[in-house]
Amino acid sequence: MAVTRFAPSPTGYLHIGGARTALFDLLWAKKTGGKFVLRIEDTDQSRNSPTAAKQVMDDLKWLGIQWDQGPQVGGPAEPYFQSQRLDIYNKYIKQLLDSGKAYYCFESADELEQMRKQAAAKKQNFIYQRPKTFPNASDVEKAKVQGRDVVVRFCMPEEEIVVDDVIRGQVKFKGSEISDLIILKNDGFPTYHFACVVDDELMGITHVIRGQEHLMNTPGHIALQKALGFKTPVYAHMSLTVSEGGGKMSKRDRAKVLKEAIKKSQGLDMEALASAGGINITELEEFISGDAMPDTPAVDAMAEYLHMDLPEINIVDFFKSGYLPQALVNFIALLGYSAPVDKEVLTLQELIDTFDSSRFNKTNSLFDRKKLLSFNMEHIKLLSADELLSRYKDFLKVVNSPAAKADDALLKRVLKASEGARTLAEIDHKSRFLFTEDDKIEYNQKDVDKVLLNNNGQGLTMLAELKEHLRNLPTLNDKTIEDMLRGLAEQKQVGLGKVAQPLRLAICGTTISLPIFESIDMLGLEATVRRIERTIKKFADKIVKEIK
Ligand code: GLU
Repeated sequence: MAVTRFAPSPTGYLHIGGARTALFDLLWAKKTGGKFVLRIEDTDQSRNSPTAAKQVMDDLKWLGIQWDQGPQVGGPAEPYFQSQRLDIYNKYIKQLLDSGKAYYCFESADELEQMRKQAAAKKQNFIYQRPKTFPNASDVEKAKVQGRDVVVRFCMPEEEIVVDDVIRGQVKFKGSEISDLIILKNDGFPTYHFACVVDDELMGITHVIRGQEHLMNTPGHIALQKALGFKTPVYAHMSLTVSEGGGKMSKRDRAKVLKEAIKKSQGLDMEALASAGGINITELEEFISGDAMPDTPAVDAMAEYLHMDLPEINIVDFFKSGYLPQALVNFIALLGYSAPVDKEVLTLQELIDTFDSSRFNKTNSLFDRKKLLSFNMEHIKLLSADELLSRYKDFLKVVNSPAAKADDALLKRVLKASEGARTLAEIDHKSRFLFTEDDKIEYNQKDVDKVLLNNNGQGLTMLAELKEHLRNLPTLNDKTIEDMLRGLAEQKQVGLGKVAQPLRLAICGTTISLPIFESIDMLGLEATVRRIERTIKKFADKIVKEIK
């Protein structure tokens, strides 16, 4: 029975890598009939944002990764916010100080930097020199009066420390090559290392699953556990996921894509762009020409202003791009892990049922966005009509789509006509014409040239004819529309596209929409005829031949 924990530092949105860790925490706990704990590691006061913990929890819940113990649900080791557990940490800090396993020190950041530089000049790793005698209580008082920083360091043992990792096997570290860890900071908060070790013990954590980047922290954690008389949990450090560009999946990727797009676009109103992002023009200029990076909401808002898509990194980005949580869960479960089954499209329950901790991979995994898209398509197909409708409505709300106000019956028809769509965003884009006023339809000029104006306005002539045929239909439904369009194509000895594309362009402004028969049926006769007339009027003078 495994008790696992996901322990995010709430600095922003839940990152895709964090979601993967949380998912494996859940899988491991559920498969073994154990418990999954959520703990918020908010001891770094300079990096915490007040709303971030809630955001992380919302993102986890959206993914369907529900914790058994933690904030909002409670549990035996409450509270689950580390910032509310300072008394607990202080007790253990005192224990280490009293037993001579930890000591106070007073260096300033500048002094430490100096020491680091000296070590670097000698091409050595910086190891903090432990004093022969430790400062006593009156030294601490004196240091405080002098306004010096007061921190507590833990005496790292000299011996070899072996991390017995489920994924990586035995990894050995020399204690003598690791600096005495700071365990209590000048602001009175414990460091991540210390709070993490204390809480893993007090929360009964048996298995620590986390990213490979934490492997180097583990020997320090094991040494602390020994010094405090705690148990050492089982460790599994999961391999890294790299983006298609080769680097780590980071929010910098999004900023980089945005920066390139800004640099390439001409005649951009920079003042307007900056104000869309809620930053000033100097900040925008520093972003474009230097290393400065605006925060996530600013980057997102500027991308929206430019109508551009950025590579998704955080869970909300995927939500806003129209991915289903089921698809994301399936996809991240196969990053650095191979499920012992002969199919790839798996539900959360199947992932739990088949979970096998010997199936983790040591090598980095590639975040293959094409594969994610195809998973999304498969999971859209797997949902019942009602489930899909409810997911779709959530999506429409979050992207502020005009379709969000539509009634369920129409949205259900849209979804039915969207079979094979890869994302919810694709469905929304292809059906926007249904929720757009006639005079707000934007025509794609390339499509207009090709489909309407080419060949002396063949498409426009076709539209004029189509209008009459549509009017003459005794009943309007997708079947009668299909018969009429096919009949007309046959009569004129042309492919269906020559008849259907002008019609599509007239109602949507582009040649990409839902299937045409259903599209006309959903839009209705009146609106279709109105749009045909508007289109003819708008483009008739662009060709020589006269169109009535
Ligand atoms: N708070 C740490 C992080 O967000 C947790 C690391 C761990 O799982 O121990 O990276």
